[in-house]
Amino acid sequence: MNILQNISLQAYNTFGIDVKAKEFVEVHSLEELKTLCSVFNLLERNILVLGGGSNILLTKDFEGMVICNRLEGIEKLHEDDEFIWVKAMAGEVWHHFVLWCIQRGYAGIENLSLIPGCVGAAPMQNIGAYGVEIKDVFDSLEAVEIATGEMKTFTRAACKFGYRESVFKHEAKGKYIISSVTFKLYKQPRFNTSYGAIQQVLDKKGVKELSIKAISDAVIEIRSSKLPDPKKLGNSGSFFKNPEIPSMQFEQLKQQYADMVGYPASPGFTKVAAGWLIEQCGWKGKVVGNTGSHKDQALVLVNYGGATGAEIWQLAMDIQQSVKDKFGIEIVPEVNVI
Ligand SMILES: Cc1cc2nc3c(=O)[nH]c(=O)nc-3n(C[C@H](O)[C@H](O)[C@H](O)COP(=O)(O)OP(=O)(O)OC[C@H]3O[C@@H](n4cnc5c(N)ncnc54)[C@H](O)[C@@H]3O)c2cc1C
Repeated sequence: MNILQNISLQAYNTFGIDVKAKEFVEVHSLEELKTLCSVFNLLERNILVLGGGSNILLTKDFEGMVICNRLEGIEKLHEDDEFIWVKAMAGEVWHHFVLWCIQRGYAGIENLSLIPGCVGAAPMQNIGAYGVEIKDVFDSLEAVEIATGEMKTFTRAACKFGYRESVFKHEAKGKYIISSVTFKLYKQPRFNTSYGAIQQVLDKKGVKELSIKAISDAVIEIRSSKLPDPKKLGNSGSFFKNPEIPSMQFEQLKQQYADMVGYPASPGFTKVAAGWLIEQCGWKGKVVGNTGSHKDQALVLVNYGGATGAEIWQLAMDIQQSVKDKFGIEIVPEVNVI
């Protein structure tokens, strides 16, 4: 295990923010991870665990230890007539894992194709796209408890998944390093093509026989055409969560803004498209210094080159305030601001 000092994190976050970490270590095995916990007394230190760095905004140098999770490996555990249990180590690239499952006909995560990042971060915010969230196929996860170096298992219930939420963003925050995730996948696919443009793309391609591969290809095509590629334009995907507001408030706003976009949420609440709110406030495509809101996706904040995390955070706060002023709705970041 090689602990490096004063390392630039620019290559380790998809915003491409150039801040330094006081200490930086890549962990390749469970043994290394446990050693790190016991030898370095991580509880007393300021630590930041990183996977692909695709859901963070680094606003300043990190005066602590960055632990890059590089634990690899995927294995089929067992199966019954209906399901297959597959365990993936936390450092596996999420999309590679999705493709691995599709190749073997293991269904359930095809709609989550091409989401950046690693397997270990997926439960953190219960990643979701095109009508599927990982909670739908989640079995359990294993994590090292930082205080003791011991392994703990979290069931689906223990993870307390919600919309872009889990226990790891709340009471378990900063207490565990996720080492592996076990998924319960379907042998017989349950196709979900009702979200976004999936069906449209399948029709356009003339797909006659639906398969998990065809859905994955459609999702990849849509995502590649819609979202800026972080390798070309630094970003962290959707910066804000879609807010849930009381349905009464939604109905009132709808009288004023007839084209306001909303979806049913928990009883009595409506989920409003944050991108629409931001666009209505005039931010879509607006460039502010080295940053801005993307021209095609108002919800995606971008680094046009050389932006600091503080600059992006200032933009995010200005957007947040203008949405509050215009609609009386508070939008909160989905991205982890460090
Ligand atoms: C272009 C683009 C599109 C995106 N589209 C989507 C989308 O459709 N749906 C969606 O849900 N998300 C989306 N995202 C966000 C992002 O891809 C996911 O949140 C992803 O799961 C983050 O993975 P990561 O490995 O990059 O996490 P990181 O950014 O490295 O970390 C995210 C958080 O998890 C913590 N963490 C990471 N690994 C571990 C671990 N092993 N143990 C404990 N804590 C850990 C970190 O400390 C941090 O707080 C998108 C991002 C981009 C750039």
